Amino acid sequence: MARYIFITGGVVSSLGKGLASAALGALLQARGFSVRLRKLDPYLNVDPGTMSPFEHGEVFVTDDGAETDLDLGHYERFTGVPAKMTDSVSSGRIYSNVLEKERRGDYLGKTIQVIPHVTDEIKDFIGIGDDEVDFMLCEIGGTVGDIEGLPFFEAIRQYCHDRPRGQCIFMHLTLLPYLASSGELKTKPTQHSVKEMQSIGIAPDILVCRSEKRIPEKEREKIAQFCNVRKEAVIAAYNLNSIYEAPLAYHNEGLDQAVLDAFEISPAPRPDMEKWNDVVDRISNTDGEVNVAIVGKYTSLEDAYKSIIEALSHGGMANRVKVNVKWIDAEIFEEKEIGPHLEGYDAILVPGGFGERGTKGKIKAAQFAREMKIPYLGICLGMQMAVIEAARNLAGIPDAGSEEFDIERGDTRFTPVVYHLKEWIQGNEKVTRKPADNKGGTMRLGAYDAILKDGSKVAEIYGTREIDERHRHRYEVDKRYIEKLEKLGICFSGMSPDGRLPEIIELKDHPWYVGVQFHPELKSKPFQPHPLFADFIRAAILCSRLV
Ligand code: GLN
Repeated sequence: MARYIFITGGVVSSLGKGLASAALGALLQARGFSVRLRKLDPYLNVDPGTMSPFEHGEVFVTDDGAETDLDLGHYERFTGVPAKMTDSVSSGRIYSNVLEKERRGDYLGKTIQVIPHVTDEIKDFIGIGDDEVDFMLCEIGGTVGDIEGLPFFEAIRQYCHDRPRGQCIFMHLTLLPYLASSGELKTKPTQHSVKEMQSIGIAPDILVCRSEKRIPEKEREKIAQFCNVRKEAVIAAYNLNSIYEAPLAYHNEGLDQAVLDAFEISPAPRPDMEKWNDVVDRISNTDGEVNVAIVGKYTSLEDAYKSIIEALSHGGMANRVKVNVKWIDAEIFEEKEIGPHLEGYDAILVPGGFGERGTKGKIKAAQFAREMKIPYLGICLGMQMAVIEAARNLAGIPDAGSEEFDIERGDTRFTPVVYHLKEWIQGNEKVTRKPADNKGGTMRLGAYDAILKDGSKVAEIYGTREIDERHRHRYEVDKRYIEKLEKLGICFSGMSPDGRLPEIIELKDHPWYVGVQFHPELKSKPFQPHPLFADFIRAAILCSRLV
């Protein structure tokens, strides 16, 4: 039976609950325990797949094909434990399950209510895989007091109540605002937030207090006293230069010790922090920097490309350089000269995306990188753009395009070099999709294998011929163009095992030009940088030293 840590937030949103949960997961691993992290989100979308990245940030995809919250990305990056479909749930999913059961008649004529039907559904979810790990960390999205969050808070209260004493603890994150006029950190919002928790029957065992200033001992005592927690369980969370300093910072503040004390685990296993010392050393002791341009559409919200930014920083750690990322809106040079916008960068990355808007600029960026011999990494849509660019400018198909753009316009203006994939193999089964299918969860999602060509750049980078990477797309490069494009120096160096779906392209006569149909960024970790990102940054360093 796992021990449970429920992580909640109060006072304001965006306190870094996901990061605190992920860092705590890493600290428990450093003490030799196995962990799994889960996110329970109160919003009503069934999953975040259909939410705009502008609003909700990146959609993180798991190996088993779930479209989840970006916090699951933090969890994986800090613990290395691959997230699963069963690690993320929303109110929308819970209600939809309950309603489905009601229609099926599973409730035997009963009146369906939030308590017990919705809360039971949440509790069932929390307990999945209970016997597989030492600690289950469950983060509740939002802030205590939110209307949508109430069933989740009630469910975790009951969950704890149903279990033997000492099996569950509550960790609550709050903010200590600093009032410059009086030169004080204020504890009242934290007190109120804890009161709010207590009013719904939950007494936090550990308080993590975000603060811009050092928390004086006196204030810590006051918080402990008024919020009814031990003084050692009031943990300070200060601003950090890098998120990867969080495990060490929380360890130094005593978070993992406080958790073990709350569970009465004694003697506490000694922590092995070597991995995190090395990560912080690689961030702090760098030799030079490189400048990478990301040419994308959702550039106004950095969270929209969260995993890419992180993977680039991991690539920097692998090479001990600082990676400066500049966001460039693909639309700004659609009708203009591209040179002035992209000159001076050591590498160009075109990330994934949906819809036609901005693609003209992305195609121009792919062409610029190809012709100017600047390292290029095209991810998903970024690979499709590279193929369309080559088809137009090298293979003499001036109207080469994607069915994605035709479908949006309702016309057939382009020669579809990239087509709508309606049938593919998953494991041993055939998956089919119709154009009119729902928008939610109908893409080719999750981990798929690819076979790499002997002697290709990517085979060398990966150091193996068989890989599996995560996908999230509807469209695919048409393999009928392979022969023509290969004659022009575009090597299709990765294919699906059945040979039908191009997974990777690379340019022969170029220092580093790779397009991938999948999302390598989702599997990169600070202590295990993804080989493609590590090598991309290595190429960027070479490029920067050439000029
Ligand atoms: N829009 C493209 C497709 O669906 C690319 C998706 C992506 O970049 N994730 O195939």
